[in-house]
Amino acid sequence: MIELSHLKKQFQSQEVLRGISLNVARGETVVVIGPSGSGKTTLLRCINLLEVPDAGTLRIGDAGLDFTGGRKPSSQDILTLRRQTGMVFQSYELFPHMTALANVMEGPVTVQGKRAAEARDRAQELLAKVGLGDKAGLYPHQLSGGQQQRVGIARAMAMNPLVLLFDEPTSALDPELVGDVLEVIRQLAREGMTMVIVTHEMKFARDVADRIVFVDGGVIVEEGSPAQVLDSPSQERTRRFLHRIS
Ligand code: ADP
Repeated sequence: MIELSHLKKQFQSQEVLRGISLNVARGETVVVIGPSGSGKTTLLRCINLLEVPDAGTLRIGDAGLDFTGGRKPSSQDILTLRRQTGMVFQSYELFPHMTALANVMEGPVTVQGKRAAEARDRAQELLAKVGLGDKAGLYPHQLSGGQQQRVGIARAMAMNPLVLLFDEPTSALDPELVGDVLEVIRQLAREGMTMVIVTHEMKFARDVADRIVFVDGGVIVEEGSPAQVLDSPSQERTRRFLHRIS
């Protein structure tokens, strides 16, 4: 479903992604772990083209872009590929002046040109799915952080993306609110959604991941099943990281 090949990104003189190759199969949940500053967020932002890679190729579903040798795809091609992905942000990024329902309807109506009635029905369905069927009329400030993040997940799903990308979806939440959000993501994994998740929640990573990818210094140092990477890592850098956070 996702194919990244030799993806690179630098900011000014800092090389943040130094040649990342990663394939994600349909229905697979890949969890990306690694130290702060290792390039995890940049990797997600390159997959959905909030950042444009400097080199490499990226394919999502049937659409692909080639950045080899500094090629710059057209903004239309970039937009087309971005629409294959849904992104869930650390800080929710909901529109504060819109209800939960309106937040979820916004993309389908303004970007996809769906009729309001159809978008509303689907938004209501998605809010019910994330456990917020009775909160559709509330504004973000009337919701807890965990509820806001679940609206964020419903909003990302409303565009029917091929893949969902999560950037530390629970790191802004009080501990008691983390569980509900993680349960929604687990449910999506069981339903076969294709997902790439950056998280520091190691227990969750172990539960939900089909594969764990350890990134350090802008490269994939090691990847494998949760048991392989978390319990018997083959690389010293992985061992040191796991030791630090345990
Ligand atoms: P992580 O998610 O693993 O913490 P990031 O991808 O956020 O890492 O950041 C990797 C490095 O790239 C950091 O040193 C960060 O300061 C730098 N960086 C990220 N985004 C930008 C940007 N837009 N402009 C300049 N530097 C950036």
